[in-house]
Amino acid sequence: MKSTYSVAELYEKKPIGEFVTLSGWVRTFRSNRFISLNDGSTVSNFQCVLDYEKFDDTLLKKINTGTCLTLKGKIAESPGKGQPIEMLVESVEILGESDPEKYPLQPKKHSLEFLREIAHLRPRTSTFGAVFRVRHHLAYAIHDFFNRNGFFYIHSPIITASDAEGAGELFNVSTLDKKNIPLTEGGEVDFSKDFFGKEANLTVSGQLEAELLAMGLGKVYTFGPTFRAENSNTTRHLAEFWMIEPEMAFYQLSDNMELAEEFLKYIISYALEKASEDLRFLDQRLADEEKSKPTDQRSMPLLEKLHFVLENPFARITYTDAIDILLNSSYHRKKKFQFPVEWGIDLQSEHERYLVEKHFKTPVIITDYPAAIKAFYMRLNEDEKTVRAMDILVPGIGEIVGGSQREERYDVLLQKIKQFGISEHSLWWYLDTRKFGTCPHSGFGLGFERLVQFVTGMSNIRDVIPFPRTPGNCEF
Ligand code: ATP
Ligand code: MG
Ligand code: MG
Ligand code: MG
Repeated sequence: MKSTYSVAELYEKKPIGEFVTLSGWVRTFRSNRFISLNDGSTVSNFQCVLDYEKFDDTLLKKINTGTCLTLKGKIAESPGKGQPIEMLVESVEILGESDPEKYPLQPKKHSLEFLREIAHLRPRTSTFGAVFRVRHHLAYAIHDFFNRNGFFYIHSPIITASDAEGAGELFNVSTLDKKNIPLTEGGEVDFSKDFFGKEANLTVSGQLEAELLAMGLGKVYTFGPTFRAENSNTTRHLAEFWMIEPEMAFYQLSDNMELAEEFLKYIISYALEKASEDLRFLDQRLADEEKSKPTDQRSMPLLEKLHFVLENPFARITYTDAIDILLNSSYHRKKKFQFPVEWGIDLQSEHERYLVEKHFKTPVIITDYPAAIKAFYMRLNEDEKTVRAMDILVPGIGEIVGGSQREERYDVLLQKIKQFGISEHSLWWYLDTRKFGTCPHSGFGLGFERLVQFVTGMSNIRDVIPFPRTPGNCEF
């Protein structure tokens, strides 16, 4: 039953004349003769040819789209145009039948919305096979980049009392007995007691803990799941997403930007090399989709976009310059932005996309945001109004990376913590690293799903993670 070679290996080795075993799922069965089989190893199917006179009808009737089977036979050169080699089938073993009347995946194009409702079966489609293989290669590339560059992979906790961003988008972890919930004197649920007597949440970011490790190990990164109880239904937000967070001692903002750009380019070039076939498939898929749009609204073809990003430097501007560009834009004059532009606003996705898609037409790094709209831990600039933050924006998505130089000065940090209304006591351990042997340091967070979106060209974040968690969606 175990395949001698996967389909990917068969195409690579072309073992003509060899008798092999091949297992997989049937995509189509034509003319009672040609089985197109997919085993998940590559986006390409494998043609298996059987002489129907040698097999009985009841067996042939069980070969349908979705049927799982093991075939044995010889590999031969294919006389057909579609594929270099094929299998001449000698035996068929049905592993799992699939009723063609009931199987939801038919050999036609299904909408992504429909496939989201059957997230348990969509890995069997070409599109999702390609997306999840690219996702794998990107994850691998990330570890590869850091490993080559002297970073240590650390694991930040999932359960934590800290709200790193201070945004309050927390999922509470509870061990409370629902029948006997402790109440405060004011009659509200006492959250300070819910994790065996302590407050606990699912982490929104591993950054603060990664900083502690960087201030001992030098260069570290964490790559794990993060959780945000944001009740938003956008194409770029999930309640559970994976984040890559490097933290580096002795790095200033400019070093941080350089690293982030080099890092993104490395992982994109890695994916282009290791997932070339899947990316070619996704490029074609997107091109088909774009055909329905007017020519001036079409986005750049996927592969062209990825090569363009590799070959050109990212634009770099300050937040203040970004606001000026927006204020001088025709979009602002014609009141096309829903959210009005003025210095001090948090850039909305529409602003980010204008800057990156209409103005620069290349990824952009925006730095030096107003202190009031960024988290407490960012390094305050000498003007005392802005912080050494950097966000990286890419076409089609907007923000993909959020980072900064961190505030290393104990007094300034303490003042910021108080100003933001955060309890000083809850961050005593973080403050300690500034009290003893502090150093300038920096880091950033890359949303993994937004990266996968960018590289695969999938427009909805729900389509780049196997099991998307969005408001109300966590059945399986
Ligand atoms: P946004 O402005 O899009 O809400 P953010 O500024 O709140 O993002 P950060 O706190 O800066 O996000 O997190 C770092 C990175 O994590 C972001 O740049 C983005 O790539 C990713 N990210 C943040 N929130 C989400 C989410 N809900 N789903 C998926 N990725 C996210
Ligand atoms: Mg957010
Ligand atoms: Mg943001
Ligand atoms: Mg951000």
